[in-house]
Amino acid sequence: MGTVPPEGSAGLPLRPELRGRSPYGAPQVPARHRLNTNENPHPLPAELLADLGAALGHAAVDLNRYPDRDATALRTELAAYLSRSSREHIRATQVWAANGSNEVLQQILQAFGGGGRTALGFTPSYSMHPIISAGTGTGWVDGHRREDFTIDPAAAVAQVREVRPDVVFVTSPNNPTGTAVALSTITDIYDATTGVVVVDEAYAEFARAGTPSALTLLPGRPRLIVSRTMSKAFGMAGLRLGYLAADAAVVDALQLVRLPYHLSSLTQAAARTALAHTDALLATVDAVKAQRDRIVAALPGLGLTSVPSDANFVLFGGFADAPSVWKALLDHDVLVRDVGLPGWLRVTAGTAQETDAFLTALGEVVRETSADEGESAP
Ligand SMILES: *Cc1c(COP(=O)(O)O)cnc(C)c1O
Repeated sequence: MGTVPPEGSAGLPLRPELRGRSPYGAPQVPARHRLNTNENPHPLPAELLADLGAALGHAAVDLNRYPDRDATALRTELAAYLSRSSREHIRATQVWAANGSNEVLQQILQAFGGGGRTALGFTPSYSMHPIISAGTGTGWVDGHRREDFTIDPAAAVAQVREVRPDVVFVTSPNNPTGTAVALSTITDIYDATTGVVVVDEAYAEFARAGTPSALTLLPGRPRLIVSRTMSKAFGMAGLRLGYLAADAAVVDALQLVRLPYHLSSLTQAAARTALAHTDALLATVDAVKAQRDRIVAALPGLGLTSVPSDANFVLFGGFADAPSVWKALLDHDVLVRDVGLPGWLRVTAGTAQETDAFLTALGEVVRETSADEGESAP
């Protein structure tokens, strides 16, 4: 899947704003250690797999019928999970679910963005935010960050006041940099806009201790939306289940754009079964965080740096030529992500064995690179 040529493929009457664009494309390259898409590599608990078989079999009996269009039982259980983890009281009417948080974000842009409207996000951030904006005909503006990739609240407020976006994205913890955003920065941005503010918390469960969720900001902020996913900490990327919490009026607004029966009965049954095993699924989160911290701690010994991470990945850098390091790591059977930031690469933290493989390969690559530079020195 390459870039669509400027005239559209074979002269197709493609929308002008889509011409010349590239689709989302984390390379799906074969490698022994795939540390490029922030999945949770731990195997799913055996009890969950057994229950999934039974639940899907049960749901299959009714596949001649359309699913519950409102996913009421699932939303009730998602609300219970969010309430438990944030100590906020979040009701089912405040929760909406779709096929991955990407679909949730698309529905938000369909309802609050669209033709003649603008979304703003603080780049570098999740590459899908501008892509989904383009797909929904929403204009995109890059928000500024500091050199260290944090958001300067005063600069953010000034930019939001100037651009007057209809939708503002704040990714916290941010992808690809890993750092969580202070709640005060989110409230500053919220107060500076009349648009909706979407806090993308795909990695919230991995945040370092004491990092509060933007869920705690929901009361009294009817334009605030917090999106979550089961793709990362829950280890269910293949399920395609994302969700949001917001004022109930936001959920009502999304009913205007969602496709009827968008969430299949199999998806709803599988997600509910997974939620019943929340504790077992999230039991791997601490182990993943320990591997993340191990990677961060090992980097200085290799002459490299990283950005503080509240996620299950680390942005690491100090490279003269990051793409050649990406390739050299792949030659060592380790696939990381080149997110297009000069000097930096991103690695997913997973199992201890994966960290071993990554750090060993990285050590060899760093030594090979400095040996090359030594040779070419005059
Ligand atoms: C991975 C990720 C998502 C997850 O998308 P799903 O569609 O739920 O799999 C959302 N936001 C960010 C910032 C991500 O990195």
